[in-house]
Amino acid sequence: MSLFKRLFNAVKSNSVSASDWDEIRSNLIESDLGVKLVDEVIAIAKKSKPEDAQAAISGVITGWLSGKSRELNYEANTLNTILLVGVNGTGKTTTTAKIANYLKIKDLQITLAAADTFRAAATEQLQTWGERLDIPVVTGKANSDPAAVSFEAVSVASDAKSDYLIVDTAGRLHTKQGLMDELGKVIRVIEKQSKVSEILLVIDATTGQNGITQAKTFIEAVGVTGFVITKLDGSAKGGVAIAIEKETGLPIKFIGTGESVSDLAPFDATSYLDSLFL
Ligand code: GDP
Repeated sequence: MSLFKRLFNAVKSNSVSASDWDEIRSNLIESDLGVKLVDEVIAIAKKSKPEDAQAAISGVITGWLSGKSRELNYEANTLNTILLVGVNGTGKTTTTAKIANYLKIKDLQITLAAADTFRAAATEQLQTWGERLDIPVVTGKANSDPAAVSFEAVSVASDAKSDYLIVDTAGRLHTKQGLMDELGKVIRVIEKQSKVSEILLVIDATTGQNGITQAKTFIEAVGVTGFVITKLDGSAKGGVAIAIEKETGLPIKFIGTGESVSDLAPFDATSYLDSLFL
């Protein structure tokens, strides 16, 4: 049953016991909507007339989503650079390949940069994706300066007249200031030659409320422009998308729903809400 259906059915029935409310509440908390937002939803449900409750709750939740554009920023006839950032293992490298594939299908020219120089496997992983997708990948030596790889990648992408350069950065703990500073350096170095059009924070849906803490720290450190929520396949954690947009005001641009390159979709807020409400 969709996330809010049980709540809607309960309020319509006009006879909700204390234990029903407890069950509805824990059901919503399990979806990673967050305790604060769950309690707001329940308070609205309790104070609305039974016949008005569904509309009131849907309206409030819809209003929590970001009003900002979910399209990737794009300027014609210039290089548009997208940086993927986030903590380790969220799916940055995979998402870099997925976005490259998504844009290539739209007939755009893409260059990739493997700026995760800490993890040799990350560079190899991106090179493999590049070969499969027939997209050039700029790499650096293991442990070389990620800013230098990014700088070179901007030149290569500009010379190739690419529409997009997508930079896969190393996973970093949002609590480690040195690593966050290094990300700032990567951005400054790219900006010497080309505008950074998007900084997408990749968040693993299964990390739940911790994703919101990550979002807040990355936004403060590097001016995130939007999110990619990965691993939403088979996850009952749909509430986290609402919570992230409500807490940050920034839009989710894509969702990842699997490990293959085509398992990426632009985030469609209307159908997402329908899936929670209907
Ligand atoms: P990174 O460390 O952030 O670059 O993460 P990776 O791209 O290496 O991904 C870590 C793991 O998550 C890999 O096993 C990926 O195949 C997997 N992964 C990435 N995105 C998704 C997704 O949307 N769904 C699922 N089920 N797995 C994913």
